[in-house]
Amino acid sequence: MEIDSAILNSKLKTFFGYDSFKGDQEAIIRNLIEGKDTFVLMPTGGGKSLCFQLPALVMPGTAIVISPLIALMKNQVDVIRGFEEEQLGIAHFLNSSLGKAQIQEVKNDVLSGVTKLLYVAPESLTKDENIELLKDVHISFYAVDEAHCISEWGHDFRPEYRRIRDMIQTIGRAPVIALTATATPKVQSDIQKNLGIMDATVFKSSFNRPNLYYEVRDKVNAEKDIIRYIHQHPGKSGIIYCLSRKKVEETSNLLNINGIKALPYHAGLDAKTRAENQDRFLMEDVDVIVATIAFGMGIDKPDVRFVIHYDIPKSIEGYYQETGRAGRDGEGADCITYYSYKDIQKLEKFMLGKPISEQEIGRQLLMETVAYAETSQCRRKMLLNYFGEDYPKDNCGVCDNCLHPKPTFDGRKEMQLVIRLIKSLPEHFKIEHLAMVLSGQANAMVKSYQHDTLPLFGEGKNHSDRFWSAAIHQGLLLHLLGKEIESYGRIYVTEKGEEFYTDPWEIRLVEEKVLTKKEVEEDEEDAAADKAAMRGGGGDPVLLSMLKNLRKDMSKRLNLQPWIIFGDPALEDMSIIYPISFNELHSCQGVGEGKARKYGKEFIDLIKAYVEENDITRPAEFIVKSAPARSADKIYIIQSVDRKLALEDIAAARGMEMEKLIEDIEGIVSTGTKLDLNYYIQQEIDEDIVDDIFDYFKNEATSDSVEEAKQALGPDYEEMEIRLVRLKFLCEVAS
Ligand code: ADP
Ligand code: MG
Repeated sequence: MEIDSAILNSKLKTFFGYDSFKGDQEAIIRNLIEGKDTFVLMPTGGGKSLCFQLPALVMPGTAIVISPLIALMKNQVDVIRGFEEEQLGIAHFLNSSLGKAQIQEVKNDVLSGVTKLLYVAPESLTKDENIELLKDVHISFYAVDEAHCISEWGHDFRPEYRRIRDMIQTIGRAPVIALTATATPKVQSDIQKNLGIMDATVFKSSFNRPNLYYEVRDKVNAEKDIIRYIHQHPGKSGIIYCLSRKKVEETSNLLNINGIKALPYHAGLDAKTRAENQDRFLMEDVDVIVATIAFGMGIDKPDVRFVIHYDIPKSIEGYYQETGRAGRDGEGADCITYYSYKDIQKLEKFMLGKPISEQEIGRQLLMETVAYAETSQCRRKMLLNYFGEDYPKDNCGVCDNCLHPKPTFDGRKEMQLVIRLIKSLPEHFKIEHLAMVLSGQANAMVKSYQHDTLPLFGEGKNHSDRFWSAAIHQGLLLHLLGKEIESYGRIYVTEKGEEFYTDPWEIRLVEEKVLTKKEVEEDEEDAAADKAAMRGGGGDPVLLSMLKNLRKDMSKRLNLQPWIIFGDPALEDMSIIYPISFNELHSCQGVGEGKARKYGKEFIDLIKAYVEENDITRPAEFIVKSAPARSADKIYIIQSVDRKLALEDIAAARGMEMEKLIEDIEGIVSTGTKLDLNYYIQQEIDEDIVDDIFDYFKNEATSDSVEEAKQALGPDYEEMEIRLVRLKFLCEVAS
């Protein structure tokens, strides 16, 4: 079929409204129109859909588009219908969600030749009645979208995809176009073999996304870190990926509590809620969507400014696809991943329930992710290398490792040792195995090959296996080593590697940070201190002592005990978060709004002056408020006390002991909420007793401790009385 460039371009404009083709689109479309099998490797957002939509509209017959997700299909069909003013191209979809009448309608349109594009779910393609129908249709071509689903080595294997080739044979051969955004050399070869399109013309665009910044952070205080990051990027759209639904819900809640507009998205939500949440994100009604990987297929929001992986993805393919949703408009966007080896171990454990072959594949893919997370090399280079693409520069300047390079050394001896080991073995082995042998660790695999008896076993034991894996990865990046495609991931020495071996040149390896025992302990202390800082304690000691002096002053002036003004935990919080407004003061422990206004002014003034004098950057956004536990009970208690219900009745209504209720009330009051318990106290406790206990707290006590009060007041006063009057005192005087 002959179609010249002018016609194609005018169709592009009329059907889709674009002025020019993007990347290889035109060449791809021509190739297909010429009747040739076509294989398109293009990153997410590259414009793959147009490569089959446009030819479908200009070629005679109906194009069959095989696509894995109903949501995705609906979205694409809607897009085309939007451009359908002249009633030329009609798109339909066929999947298990359609009712009988709808199916009949689709069939009529297909048979009468009105339908130009028929989207089919892979499982529908295997149904006999659909096959029979399609046999009678003039088919222009078959498009296999998300073609990596064919391969077990892709990140989203779907067994139905394996049967596509047979279906095509049965229905009748027509040109095939396969498209994917994620194809390692292994997946690429699987796709071509499986579809029987070994001779297809391959169009591979660069997978580099120069506007994306990649960073991997240690997963320490990740929630706090995420909240800070988002506060630093107000109003920007972002996606946070978590592996579990539970974590999605928790994170979304936490963000909202901390003033960030976020919504959850996962497969456990009903379809309506999911669609609503997605729309609100697209419409920018919320800034952040917290999602499991289920979110994003076919989503086309151009200005996603950050993608955060709270959990490490299971494969680089998944990671690349998810990060690929950032910055589609070409403007800068951040991709931040939180990594801890513990998460990897968790993922490995999850895999144990799966068939052995799947486990093996899963582990391999996971190890690639580990290598990526742990590398000190340019992340972009590593990613592109994974997809079989060479990144020409050593330093991309837009990833954490390039911006903050780690110290390196001349590692030619080490690389030679790697090569010597590989050459000395009769068959090829995977990275981990080689690393274990070099570092002298006899795991089961090493033993089963009796590699613990090799002369080179432990030859590099001055380094860890992690170091050796990193070195081997560096060898891959430098093309001294290669990875077998068929027997996935076994390492061989390339020609260049042989040259290097006989006559080595300088290569840089990253120095291993070997933590001494002391450093490990210090690390742990740091983490503990960090945690303590979150709880209170460990703030600015100078400020803390100034605050304590001020409190002493005020207590003399007001004739109130210091702790009544502000407790120690409150002062400690102030020394950490430097509050300079009533609102901020209010977020310190035990400081209610009333107390903040009553006693806070001088504290705020002092902190303001201190912050200015010492040029302190206030970490206001560090305060992570956590979700209040059992908040339903608390709200009920507060409301019931307001309505002056007897405490016994409140306890009974919530099915709790009186003891527990008082504890809860103490908890509520300690966070600064005032409760008026006089109605109950007046009725239950003798007036004189109330006065005695009240006086004790006002004039004698050195803290609000109930134990101390019991000691001081003696056996004439019951504990419950003391506790209730203490609450009255705290609410009336101390808050
Ligand atoms: P992919 O399937 O490769 O991830 P899509 O087909 O969903 O990408 O297209 C990504 C975006 O690029 C869409 O918003 C699409 O409208 C847009 N697009 C595609 N082709 C062109 C073009 N020639 N000119 C401008 N925008 C285009
Ligand atoms: Mg697509």
